Amino acid sequence: MLPAIFVSHGSPMLALEQAEARDFLKRLPALLPERPKAILMISAHWERLRPAVNAPAQLETIHDFGGFPAALFEMQYPAPSSSELADRVVSLLSAGGLPTDIDTHRGLDHGAWVPLVVAWPDADIPIVQLSVQTHLGPEHHYRLGRLLGPLREEGVLIIGSGSFTHDLSSFRVSSGRIDAPEQDWVHSFAEWMVSALEDGRVDDLLNYRARAPEAAHNHPTEEHLLPLYVALGAGAGGVEHLHQSTTYGILRMDAFAFGAAGGITNIL
Ligand code: ZN
Repeated sequence: MLPAIFVSHGSPMLALEQAEARDFLKRLPALLPERPKAILMISAHWERLRPAVNAPAQLETIHDFGGFPAALFEMQYPAPSSSELADRVVSLLSAGGLPTDIDTHRGLDHGAWVPLVVAWPDADIPIVQLSVQTHLGPEHHYRLGRLLGPLREEGVLIIGSGSFTHDLSSFRVSSGRIDAPEQDWVHSFAEWMVSALEDGRVDDLLNYRARAPEAAHNHPTEEHLLPLYVALGAGAGGVEHLHQSTTYGILRMDAFAFGAAGGITNIL
């Protein structure tokens, strides 16, 4: 059975620039016990008031960023969509009391396509995105994950794509250097989160904002951490810390597999 995965997508330049997190994403498909039939992406960059999945005839590659080189704007990820998976997500979430919309226009934002273009460059696996509801916090996203868990037995890879830490207002501390030293306040938060995940302290994780050191500093808004809770809920009962690195001193690029017992090789 496939695990549920959380990845940190970092800067959109991850699609082009050498980084440890990019090397990890390249290796990710080989770590999985089977090739996914389809991928359900929960990206921090699609926020809606209630859950929505996308199922357009053709998935547009959305370049939802500014100030990057033309080569990044020229990148395309022409993966097929899947109305079948979109319908399945709607039925699982609706049955659990969460009415879910189908958006027949929206394509893939960079939180979805940047990790995908590195990990599965052939773009031949059908992709569906599920929106986040930032105002509803960790518990709601954990519940989303619990309801989506059965997809793992159906060959669907659930990927939450966000950032383990994400205070972009502190970007200046890096002087633009991808290898800038990690800030202490980033380190203390990330270490607390890793321990809570590895110990399975779900209650602490759901209340991370009150209990983790420097929580609001690392996540002034929560949308980049919430995809982690979907993956956690979908793969309840076992975590593997797949990757750890830091970019620009402030962006932890950690990745985790949930529910992977025996199904994935820990490469940290
Ligand atoms: Zn992002």
